[in-house]
Amino acid sequence: MIYLNGEFMPIEDAKVSVLDRGFIFGDGVYEVIPVYSRHPFRLAEHLRRLQASLDSIRLANPHDAAEWTRLILRLVELNAPDDQSLYLHVTRGAARRDHAFPKGVAPTVFMMSSPLLTPPQPQVDAGVCAITAPDNRWLRCDIKAIALLPNVLLRQLAVDAGCAETILLRDGYLTEGAASNIFVVCDGVLLTPPKDHLMLPGITYDVLLELAQAHGVEHQVRKVTEPELRGAKEILLTSSTKEVLAIIELDGRTVGAGVPGPIFNRMYRLYQDYKNRVMRVPGVDAT
Ligand code: PMP
Repeated sequence: MIYLNGEFMPIEDAKVSVLDRGFIFGDGVYEVIPVYSRHPFRLAEHLRRLQASLDSIRLANPHDAAEWTRLILRLVELNAPDDQSLYLHVTRGAARRDHAFPKGVAPTVFMMSSPLLTPPQPQVDAGVCAITAPDNRWLRCDIKAIALLPNVLLRQLAVDAGCAETILLRDGYLTEGAASNIFVVCDGVLLTPPKDHLMLPGITYDVLLELAQAHGVEHQVRKVTEPELRGAKEILLTSSTKEVLAIIELDGRTVGAGVPGPIFNRMYRLYQDYKNRVMRVPGVDAT
């Protein structure tokens, strides 16, 4: 079942106008929320980021947090798997094609659920390879915009090279992955770039930094240079659906020892423990 503009229905019955500004202009924003044992993970944080994205594109939020929560929980209930990936998006609605904002048009609100497919254990144990590419996206990568053509093209470069992710470099600095945030380990310290308009403020990125802080893993949030990325002993990728993965090869060169390293193993374990403690135990606050 999906949700579209006030109604729950089978996906086959869902219809959106061809004039929808999401379709015509990519004029909308989205979120992907992992759901574990039917508990949405960090829901308040996802709804705050949605609000920030909507504010950035000057689109009024169609629902308050309580209403979003009600709709999301209902959609989770209507779908079978206990672990789901919940996609939601809001566009500026259907209107005669004109770049300027239409007046008096209702936004389109769409939500769907898919089974949550986290990386299989052999991939977690082995790590994945990545390539680098110049970050040729716009300067508002902090907005979770549905207009993802640059990210699509950049991710496809990785797929064409038989890799899992494309790591992006802008003006000699690491920004993020095509669909993930990136951490590196240099001199035993976990490093990641600060949130700014050149990267998406990842929810998993925040979780990793909180866990590093809480468990005394030495870390710094600061700009990471291209030589630091290329010389890193470990590279980690984070996202809501990939959770935490080790990158063991970059542009065909081995990273560190060529296997997931000690800091990855530590952060992965901390992440799984946190997830299982907070999300899988009934009665514990689900955020
Ligand atoms: N950066 C980009 C460009 C993304 O698309 C994503 C989400 N797939 C992330 C980072 C990670 O964000 P989150 O941890 O909130 O999933």
